[in-house]
Amino acid sequence: MNEYDDWALETLAVRAGQTRTHEGEHAEAIFPTSSYVFESAAHAAARFSGEEPGNIYSRFTNPTVRTFEQRLAAMEGGESCVATASGMAAILSTVAGLLQAGDHIVSSRSIFGTSTVLFNKYLSRFGIETSYVDLTDLSAWEQAVKPNTRLLFLETPSNPLTDVADISALSQLAKQHGCLLAVDNCFCSPALQKPLQLGADIVIHSATKYLDGQGRCIGGAVVGDSKLVGEEVFGFLRTAGPSMSPFNAWVFLKGLETLSIRMQAHCRHAQQLAEFLEAHSAVSRVYYPGLQSHPQHALAARQQSGFGGVLSFDVKGGKEAAWRVIDATRILSITANLGDTKTTITHPATTTHGRLTDEERQQAGISDGLVRVAVGLENIEDIKGDLARGLDSL
Ligand SMILES: *Cc1c(COP(=O)(O)O)cnc(C)c1O
Repeated sequence: MNEYDDWALETLAVRAGQTRTHEGEHAEAIFPTSSYVFESAAHAAARFSGEEPGNIYSRFTNPTVRTFEQRLAAMEGGESCVATASGMAAILSTVAGLLQAGDHIVSSRSIFGTSTVLFNKYLSRFGIETSYVDLTDLSAWEQAVKPNTRLLFLETPSNPLTDVADISALSQLAKQHGCLLAVDNCFCSPALQKPLQLGADIVIHSATKYLDGQGRCIGGAVVGDSKLVGEEVFGFLRTAGPSMSPFNAWVFLKGLETLSIRMQAHCRHAQQLAEFLEAHSAVSRVYYPGLQSHPQHALAARQQSGFGGVLSFDVKGGKEAAWRVIDATRILSITANLGDTKTTITHPATTTHGRLTDEERQQAGISDGLVRVAVGLENIEDIKGDLARGLDSL
């Protein structure tokens, strides 16, 4: 990685990880091949024994996937990266590669819904238990740690309320208790936040979101040191097989090239929309780390180089009013996805958080009037106008 030490993020995003073939292609090549041939029986034996590094089979390694892995590792400032078939496969590979029966996870309560299902329904079957705490309550994290706790797991900013966790403080807690800190960096991407620099041990990505950024492919990644990720997580991946396809890796490589300028635009648009919504009489509260009114505005300003593309707001008048705002839009896509050029809008209480009981939803702060917007790259005046249509009618 040393050659990359003095390159800035934008340069790494365009250049890191590429090795050209004898054809001299300028853009990265796609290698759609399942296996690789050897020069001799002895050559094959050397590869299989690990005596000589190199490709054997694309479940293990593939040149296009490796380019993506090296580029993302360089951007996150990690030694190793393992690309996976999806963001969920990245979370599963991390846990399966690093934990065993009898281990315990402390997780933020506000994580991606499917991550909660993975922990509660599936990992529990294999003897791994999870406790949940409030993302921003440091003493709750500390109290939840047990002698067998091996992993602290969180996303920041959280979805949909954009709570911000203090990664440095939690990494100190993890070190004191001999456990690992894993941060799902999906919302910020390395363009806005570098959890490893703040002391996290593992960074997890759903590449499906901002790394692609254009809503085309499903993929994920795990970044960390060469032992934890390069050996342990990689060992699970090459055995269990949730590997990334070379075509998807190529799409994500192209996504990384524009990540920084896209994230800056997402942040700028989200800030403008947040300020517009905060001033609207039909909106009672806006959740966006870039607003002075956000409880962790100062922390976010310190920890992130931008406030992100996702915001939420409470519409006065509950579910009926929220649905009216959503249904009055003509440009925004009504979908729970995020990290796309297209702005998306969703009603968490009846979609992503619809399976919670009323009480659980209230505890999580998801009101009936809450609307989440993942701001895209359209002209922001058009997006404001699209939301104003419903809001002005209330
Ligand atoms: C989407 C998402 C995931 C899961 O990623 P997939 O690529 O859909 O498997 C995990 N974490 C966060 C924060 C996400 O938004």
